[in-house]
Amino acid sequence: MPKVDSISAEKILNSRGDWTIKVNVVSDKGNQESFSVPEGKSRGSMEARIINPDKAIDLINKKIAKEFRGFDFTDQSRVDARLIELDGTKNKSNLGSNTILGVSFALARLAAKEEGVPFWKYISKLSKAKVSDKKPQIFANMINGGVHADNNLDIQEFLLLTKNSTFRKSVEKIVKVFQQIKLDLENTTSIAVGDEGGFAVSFRTDGAAIKYLHSFAKKNNLGVGIDAAANNLNWINLRSKMFYKRIHNKFGVSYIEDPFRENEARHFSKLVSKFGKSLSVSGDDLTVTSSSLIEEAHQMSAINAVIIKPNQIGTLTEALEAVKLARKYEYQIIASHRSGETNDTSIVDFAVGIAADGIKIGAPNRGERVAKYNRLLEIEGELKGRR
Ligand code: PEP
Ligand code: MG
Repeated sequence: MPKVDSISAEKILNSRGDWTIKVNVVSDKGNQESFSVPEGKSRGSMEARIINPDKAIDLINKKIAKEFRGFDFTDQSRVDARLIELDGTKNKSNLGSNTILGVSFALARLAAKEEGVPFWKYISKLSKAKVSDKKPQIFANMINGGVHADNNLDIQEFLLLTKNSTFRKSVEKIVKVFQQIKLDLENTTSIAVGDEGGFAVSFRTDGAAIKYLHSFAKKNNLGVGIDAAANNLNWINLRSKMFYKRIHNKFGVSYIEDPFRENEARHFSKLVSKFGKSLSVSGDDLTVTSSSLIEEAHQMSAINAVIIKPNQIGTLTEALEAVKLARKYEYQIIASHRSGETNDTSIVDFAVGIAADGIKIGAPNRGERVAKYNRLLEIEGELKGRR
C-alpha cells in the first residue's frame, strides 16, 4: 500500500499578488506532487474559512505532516475524513479551508501519479462519471465588472458559452471572439483587464455590455450568460427581476448565476418557476459547494444549475458529494476557478473528471487563466490516447 513520506508547504503568490500556499507531497516510493490553493474575492458567507497563509504553512509543516506520515493516501475519503476530524469545526476554521484543500488535492494528485493516470482520470474514477471531450463546455468570461474590475459595471461576469463541441473547437472559438472584441474595443477605448482576464472597460450600462456581447455571440453561435454575484449588487430586487427578464427575452441570456443575494432563495425560486428550463438559475454564494445548502436550495426549487468550487467546502470528497447530489437533482453542473488563481490547473482535471456541463476559467488571457485553457487542450490529447 502506498504511503505518505512527507508533506510540506510553502508561500507563493496568486494572480492578485496576494500570498497563498503551495502544498508539496512525496510518497514512500519517491513520487512527488503539489497543489496550489486559489482564493475568491466575492465569497459567500457560508464558505469554509480561510486562515492566514503563514499559519496554514506552520500547521502543515508542524502538525499535518506528522499526522499523515505513513498514511495510505490512495483512500481519498479516509484522507479527507482525517483532515475534517483534525480540524473539528463545521466551517474548517481551526485548520483553515486553504490548509485542508491544499493537502486534500495534493494527496489526490499523488494518488493519480502513483496509479500512473492523469488527474482527470483519477477524479472520474472517484466520481463515477463518463468522461467525454465535449464536456465541459466553456463559460468564458469576456467582460469583468463588480468587485473583479475597476469600471462602472455592477455585474461581476459577462460570459460567452460554447455549445456542444470538442475542447479544441471551443477554445479556438473563444480565442477568436476574444480577439475580435479586443480589436473592436481598441478602436474606442484603452483596454484594461479584470481579475479573470476579461475586459474591464466601462459601458453606458450593464444592459449595454450584454447587448454588446450578444452581438458577438450571435455572429459566432455562442450563448450568453452572467454572474450577477448579487451579494455585491446594490440593486433592489424589483429592478433585477425586470432586468433579468429583459436580457433573457431580448439578448437570449440563458445562464444567470447568483441573481439575488445568498439569503434571498425565495427570489431565486421565482426565477426558476417563471422561466423553467429556458434559463439556468445557478447557485454559487447561495450553495457554496455544500451538500446541505444544495439540499436546502432544492427544497425551495431555487436553482436548476450549480457552481462547484472545491475550495468553498475544503475537501475533494465533500466537493464530489456536492456533485453527486447536484447530479441526482439533474442540475447543470459548472466547475469553477476562483478570481485569485495560480498556474495550477487541477480545476480543469476536476471539471473533466466529474463530466461537468460547464467550466469557468475566465478569459483566454493572463497566464493563470491561459494555463487552464492549455490544460483543456492537453486533456483532449490525453483522452484520445495520444499522450
Ligand atoms: C465567482 O463569483 O463565481 C467567482 C469566480 O469569483 P470569486 O472567486 O471572487 O468568488
Ligand atoms: Mg459566482
